[in-house]
Amino acid sequence: ASFKRINEVDDKVKAFLTLNEEEARSHAKNLDEALEKEGVNGALFGIPAGIKDNITTKGVRTTCASKILANFEPVHDATVIEGLNKANSVQIGKLNMDEFAMGSSNENSGFFVTRNPWNTDYVPGGSSGGSAAAVAAGEVPFTLGSDTGGSIREPAAYCGVVGLKPTYGRVSRYGLVAFASSLDQIGPITRTVEDNALVLQQIAGHSNMDSTSADIPVPDFLSMITGEIKGKRIGVPKEYLSEGVEQGVKDRVLEALKVLEDLGASWEEVSLPHSKYAVSCYYLLASSEASANLARFDGVRYGVRSDNANDLLEMYQRSRDEGFGDEVKRRIMLGTFALSSGYYDAYYKKAQKVRTLIKRDFEEVLQNYDVIVGPTSPTTAFKIGEQVDDPLTMYANDVMTIPINLAGVPAISVPCGFSQGMPVGLQIIGKPFEEGEVYRMAHAYE
Ligand code: GLN
Repeated sequence: ASFKRINEVDDKVKAFLTLNEEEARSHAKNLDEALEKEGVNGALFGIPAGIKDNITTKGVRTTCASKILANFEPVHDATVIEGLNKANSVQIGKLNMDEFAMGSSNENSGFFVTRNPWNTDYVPGGSSGGSAAAVAAGEVPFTLGSDTGGSIREPAAYCGVVGLKPTYGRVSRYGLVAFASSLDQIGPITRTVEDNALVLQQIAGHSNMDSTSADIPVPDFLSMITGEIKGKRIGVPKEYLSEGVEQGVKDRVLEALKVLEDLGASWEEVSLPHSKYAVSCYYLLASSEASANLARFDGVRYGVRSDNANDLLEMYQRSRDEGFGDEVKRRIMLGTFALSSGYYDAYYKKAQKVRTLIKRDFEEVLQNYDVIVGPTSPTTAFKIGEQVDDPLTMYANDVMTIPINLAGVPAISVPCGFSQGMPVGLQIIGKPFEEGEVYRMAHAYE
């Protein structure tokens, strides 16, 4: 059914970079036989999955949507892929994204632009745009994305599907090609909250291969989505409903809060006063980390090597020049500058201090409230080409998702109606490692 749907719609949506139909079909067949003969089962038994192309898959091309990795076949699976395999899911292919997960629209892919299934003139969001569009178009029931500053939640909102960024440390990053290691998390994109919880259950938990993955027990998420939210306290940051937010987005969020109230929760206005610094702080820190992480792509160790070089240094330079796109180069330059001696204290160190203030804002509010609720993004999806020449406008799409990564807390985007004909996302933010409470609220609303 998945391949049939992909054949019908993917030439318009363009969500997939790589499809492994033959392997997927034989894997599915083997599972059927194992079920028949040995009663083999699994939480995701036979369910097709699409994987963002910055998550390594053994023997299956993993490009990060970058020309520099156009021919890269990893020799190992990411921890999350092992989790899906254990649950007997069937991976059918790899999904388009902004190059190295840098972007909010998928227009930074080194290969082609994925389109929003609701209206193909519009962006699907990014950087996990392929992951969100594939679910929205009915090509697969679930996908994995990654979220460094909003890259699961923003495309989920723009495509009208459910996307969760887990608490930093909840899911192993082993096998996720690093963008900004202190912010990156892998998470599921699905049609429903229940599906989302089911997938997270299979990929969460400590791994010896990632020292930042948390060694704390993973609760049974499904048992927490009871529909019961009576007496729950919701904080609504005034900064998230201020000017600059599309009227239709505000209206839908206020309507959603009314639904939650009718279910017995209560809400009050709160403040996250340092949120206004989050975008600047994030672009300094994320770019700094990216400049270090992307140093490994040198034409020697991975991927594509330039043919046009006369000596070693020129080979590095030309491989990187030919392999990386404009946005990736912009970030490497910004990050290298921010980390250089003489500027380190003024930029990188300052941004680290601001990050602490932002984190404290969340800690304070979450002492008194069970969850924080607001929009996922200030607007709905925009038209392809509309913002691509203006990086600062593009960066502003993440004002409401970036603070959550800087604070390390979990957050989900669930669909909450439409504005100007395009889907709106409701963002529900929780306490560290309380994805279960986030799911509970999201599921009650849904
Ligand atoms: N849009 C943000 C960026 O370009 C977030 C990306 C992400 O979460 N991977 O960095």
